[in-house]
Amino acid sequence: MIKRDLVVVGAGPAGMAAAISAYKAGVRDILLLEREQFLGGVLNQCIHTGFGIEYFKEVLTGPEYAGRFIKELKNLPEINLSLRSFVIKLNCDKVLTFLKPGQMEQVKAKAIIMATGCREKTREMVHIAGSRPSGIFSAGLAQKLINIEGVLPGREVVIVGSGDIGLIMARRFTLEGAQVKAIIEIKDRTSGLLRNVIQCVKDYDLPLLFNHKIKRIYGNQRVKKVSLAKVDKNYNEIKDSEFFIDCDTVLISTGLIPENELIEMADIKIKSEDDLNKTSLPGVFVCGNSYKVYDLVDSATKDSQEAGTMAAEYIRSLNA
Ligand SMILES: Cc1cc2nc3c(=O)[nH]c(=O)nc-3n(C[C@H](O)[C@H](O)[C@H](O)COP(=O)(O)OP(=O)(O)OC[C@H]3O[C@@H](n4cnc5c(N)ncnc54)[C@H](O)[C@@H]3O)c2cc1C
Repeated sequence: MIKRDLVVVGAGPAGMAAAISAYKAGVRDILLLEREQFLGGVLNQCIHTGFGIEYFKEVLTGPEYAGRFIKELKNLPEINLSLRSFVIKLNCDKVLTFLKPGQMEQVKAKAIIMATGCREKTREMVHIAGSRPSGIFSAGLAQKLINIEGVLPGREVVIVGSGDIGLIMARRFTLEGAQVKAIIEIKDRTSGLLRNVIQCVKDYDLPLLFNHKIKRIYGNQRVKKVSLAKVDKNYNEIKDSEFFIDCDTVLISTGLIPENELIEMADIKIKSEDDLNKTSLPGVFVCGNSYKVYDLVDSATKDSQEAGTMAAEYIRSLNA
């Protein structure tokens, strides 16, 4: 089994910031594990601008923001990068098991920082009735298909949820020549940033329907239409308000969930928001979107740097 002072899991903006900050705080034996073949996490698919306004005081795209940390990381050879390394287990003795192509490895660490990001809620989690045709995507998956794979997954789109990702994807589909037929929001307001409402919806004159819910998806092979209804302030359907929209694609954009199964499986608890980045097991920290869902990467970066400093202090305390 390999031994390391610090292992960081996940090389999105949070993991990279945490590893660099631990290095700056004196840790020299760091392993950074990332399941994908690239550094940068979800920022690689976020080609829109809006990143770094707080942290760099500049307006950057996602890949530009990530690129700054990637450059810094590559100048620090003491931080050992291991790509295509999928962590599948964490235990209370601070042993991590991970898969690399063709092999399984274990590493024991003095301290661990989990920076595994988050994932999107699925159709099943928001209870939409109807059939299960093709053409139903999470917004992030559609973003990956368009921005990374170069595939336009649909032409007539209904978006469920008006958070930032839904709004950004409404603009993205429009720019690619698709028609956004409606953005449906069950609440009476959006949870997205004002700048996204203006730049992604108002500037393109897209229909954003508040106090509406999606009732049912229709279609056999492919999505054909959806039914929608108005809701009251308790989200109950208003009688006789049902109507239909023809579409071939439904995007589900109803929120993100921190990806914390490894921590939960090890029976480690994440502490409250007052106890930033801490868990119930001393020496195991969690940061970025796996700690809590940050709207802005800038805030995720700052808290992850804090996690790096805390891990360095913990390692120092063991050596004292
Ligand atoms: C569509 C979208 C639009 C956004 N727009 C903006 C914006 O305009 N401005 C802004 O400031 N922020 C925006 N954000 C938010 C920002 O992208 C996030 O705050 C930030 O990416 C969180 O960083 P993270 O490192 O915690 O997570 P991630 O970027 O998700 O990185 C997590 C990393 O961990 C890896 N990983 C996960 N599990 C494992 C495992 N078991 N083993 C090994 N590796 C693992 C993943 O592969 C990934 O690389 C947007 C997010 C999305 C999804």
